[in-house]
Amino acid sequence: MKRTAIYPGSFDPFTIGHEDIAIRGSRIFDKLIIAVGVNNQKKRLFPQDWMLEKIKDTFIDYPNIEAVCYDELTIHLAQKCKANFILRGIRDGKDFNFETSIAALNKEIVETIETVFLFATPRLVHINSSLVREIYQYGEDIKTFIPYNLKHQTLISKMKV
Ligand code: ADP
Repeated sequence: MKRTAIYPGSFDPFTIGHEDIAIRGSRIFDKLIIAVGVNNQKKRLFPQDWMLEKIKDTFIDYPNIEAVCYDELTIHLAQKCKANFILRGIRDGKDFNFETSIAALNKEIVETIETVFLFATPRLVHINSSLVREIYQYGEDIKTFIPYNLKHQTLISKMKV
């Protein structure tokens, strides 16, 4: 059986912590699909399509990593992609508690799709999208936290904020 996983997230923005999980996941699964979701809690800062292109560029040399955008339940996307796994990263107890409920709900909806967790690499455990967003909004350079180039002005004009 071919092992296909989706790695869903808001990825607003995609960070080197996400990159690390995706690369490690690509060694476990035959195919890994990074799925950039909308954030229903708040408006995105980094547009979904723009983020998708950056993720595709980041993994250009990884033939078994793909990326898509989605706006539906993650478990429905997994079914649509014929994925048998959902990959998520765990940094701390807070992530663990949150992920436990989501994994249980997903399991109840589709019994055959397993959620698989990878623990964050210790040196990347402090990296989280909300903090990267915040420092970016205050004009700080975020290049050490993201695996692709970002031209501040280009993005701002694309975002039409
Ligand atoms: P969400 O789906 O909650 O919006 P994110 O887009 O921030 O989450 O992250 C997607 C996934 O990546 C989640 O499973 C999250 O726990 C994981 N993740 C985020 N940052 C890191 C990191 N630095 N190391 C490992 N995993 C991470």
